[in-house]
Amino acid sequence: MSVTTLCQVCESATANYTCDACGAAVCAEHYDRAAGLCVSCAAGSRR
Ligand SMILES: [Zn+2]
Ligand SMILES: [Zn+2]
Repeated sequence: MSVTTLCQVCESATANYTCDACGAAVCAEHYDRAAGLCVSCAAGSRR
């Protein structure tokens, strides 16, 4: 009963995190742990 979710950014690594803003499952490489967001949201919310 193991569900492997792939990162929605690179679609090649296992997603270990979930973006707080858009709910996307992302791998460590595409997750900003400081912001709690995926790279897309982290980049978009950066002003
Ligand atoms: Zn990734
Ligand atoms: Zn996001």
